[in-house]
Amino acid sequence: MNAYINSLDTGHTPFLERLEQKAKADRVPIIRREMQSFLKMFLAVQKPERILEVGTAVGFSAILMAEYGRPDARITTIENYEKRFSTAEKNFRESGYADRITFLKGDAAEILKALEGPYDLIFMDAAKGQYLHFLPETLRLLGPGGVLISDNVLQDGDVIESRFAVERRNRTIHKRMREYLYELKHDPGLRTSIIPLGDGITVSVKVESGRD
Ligand code: SAH
Ligand code: MG
Repeated sequence: MNAYINSLDTGHTPFLERLEQKAKADRVPIIRREMQSFLKMFLAVQKPERILEVGTAVGFSAILMAEYGRPDARITTIENYEKRFSTAEKNFRESGYADRITFLKGDAAEILKALEGPYDLIFMDAAKGQYLHFLPETLRLLGPGGVLISDNVLQDGDVIESRFAVERRNRTIHKRMREYLYELKHDPGLRTSIIPLGDGITVSVKVESGRD
């Protein structure tokens, strides 16, 4: 199914296509085709003005959001892996969107605390084992009606297995991801859909109460 769906994809700008090829060749993680397509569609629906991304890598998804979001959208993106800083900065410069992208270098656990919201869209795409830990600050930063999209939540299918069926080294992530999904689904201030797209994503909208 995925191969067929992706075969219908018409691609992006030549700059983004090159960036994707380069990232793949260098084994830098970037969002999958299915998520790229979903984000592009979603940006056209929600038209977020203030966007926060956790997990920049070399800037592919941030540049994609600048390209396909509204022309005045502002994107703040966080990365803690030093080896990726200069490539991300170079990519932002060459994309022509450096003036709309704020690149924050450091641990998101610390940086999130210092940020001020509200953000219309928060894209969570960092270390899966930390999403739960980031959640209180993420929700503080999300404005009313704001949307939190999280990537890689189904852990390549592991998340549905019992903890004993999961390799020992993945068990902590397994436990935390299950808790994260539980929180997103049970928080009365959120309306969340878990979608088996790509590596699994969630889309959560911040609502006024459990009812609207
Ligand atoms: N969104 C990017 C891909 C991000 S890959 C894209 O599609 O182009 C995930 C990134 O999150 C990695 O580069 C990793 O170094 C970073 N990361 C993981 N934990 C982090 C943390 N605690 N703070 C900041 N960045 C983190
Ligand atoms: Mg990811």
